[in-house]
Amino acid sequence: MRTVDAYAATSATDPLVKTTIERRDVGANDVLIEIAYAGICHSDIHTVRGEWGDTTYPLVVGHEIVGVVAEVGSDVTSHSVGDRVGVGCMVNSCRKCEACLAGEENYCLEGNVGTYASVDRDGTITQGGYSTHVVVDADFVLRVPESIPYEAAAPLLCAGITTYSPLHHWNVGEGTKVAVVGMGGLGHMAVKIAVAMGAEVTVLSQTLSKQDDSMRFGATAHHATKDEATFEELAGTFDVILNTVSAKLPIDAYLGLLRRNGSLVNVGAPAEPLSLNVFNLLGGRKSFSGSMIGGIRETQEMLDFCAEHGIAPEIELIDAAQVNEAYERVLSSDVRYRFVIDAATI
Ligand code: NAP
Ligand code: ZN
Ligand code: ZN
Repeated sequence: MRTVDAYAATSATDPLVKTTIERRDVGANDVLIEIAYAGICHSDIHTVRGEWGDTTYPLVVGHEIVGVVAEVGSDVTSHSVGDRVGVGCMVNSCRKCEACLAGEENYCLEGNVGTYASVDRDGTITQGGYSTHVVVDADFVLRVPESIPYEAAAPLLCAGITTYSPLHHWNVGEGTKVAVVGMGGLGHMAVKIAVAMGAEVTVLSQTLSKQDDSMRFGATAHHATKDEATFEELAGTFDVILNTVSAKLPIDAYLGLLRRNGSLVNVGAPAEPLSLNVFNLLGGRKSFSGSMIGGIRETQEMLDFCAEHGIAPEIELIDAAQVNEAYERVLSSDVRYRFVIDAATI
């Protein structure tokens, strides 16, 4: 065991505080990573604040991690000391079920082991990336291409793969009309990735305040969802709508924006249930579906895709002591577009 510095939540309501946690010894198939940067995902906030159900405190969140390999176990051949690597939302799975064998460990039938707030193989609760070091099974460690700017790479490990995977699964490509609802951490990556895949991308944001950024990221249109005329003007337009919003939305209004055979894919994970009128699916043979992160193989594919297309998240680099202030800014949709903690300040 080694004791490392971290920022932890001690309850659903108190601010995160500096503390220390234990990391396990490096096992035969483990990698010790010296963390350089950790992104702040809205899921960290949902979890810390108990919005998705009870959790165990103290809890260190953070599942967008990049750093350097500091030590490897005796059986590790895929990573070497000094490599630039990443860890996303999961650190293990059963490896035997149909989903794991298909390379979709994110859908492991026994439930994947989350990077934080999950029960690990040794029965302990996993602790995430707002920390200086982490020990992770080598099979769940990704290679981060050197051409992706180091400070900006971390958000790809959740926001990148969570948007790449459904865009890929729903065959987004040349000529596909895609709408991205909500332009925060996930949403801005969805825009960049869908544009790189060849799609015609529209941003549906609450207001017009992010319009210039939408255009800079390659979108061809940006509309305010607070303006009801948007829903009339864009009726029947999109093949795929990716909803990245962290709060409850009126789903029926968005189904009206789909073309025949179109899909509204939900990656946003609000605590409240969403409802819809099924008649809005019947007319036009439309689908309402969801998607959760992505498998390890696909995450590597996404990192390589971003490197090839010169895509990186837009970040605001912060010191660890600013994390509580950053949470408030995420909650007011005031992040441009992902906060990343400099782990050297932890
Ligand atoms: P974020 O940075 O806070 O972005 C969410 C965006 O949604 C905001 O920037 C805002 O965009 C819009 N929004 C927020 N509140 C709204 C409201 N009341 N009404 C309408 N729009 C609103 O969050 P994120 O990190 O991208 O995460 C988004 C959601 O995805 C969270 O629920 C998170 O837990 C979930 N998530 C799911 C997965 C998965 O595997 N499915 C993975 C990661 C995260 P505008 O300013 O453009 O309106
Ligand atoms: Zn996340
Ligand atoms: Zn499995």
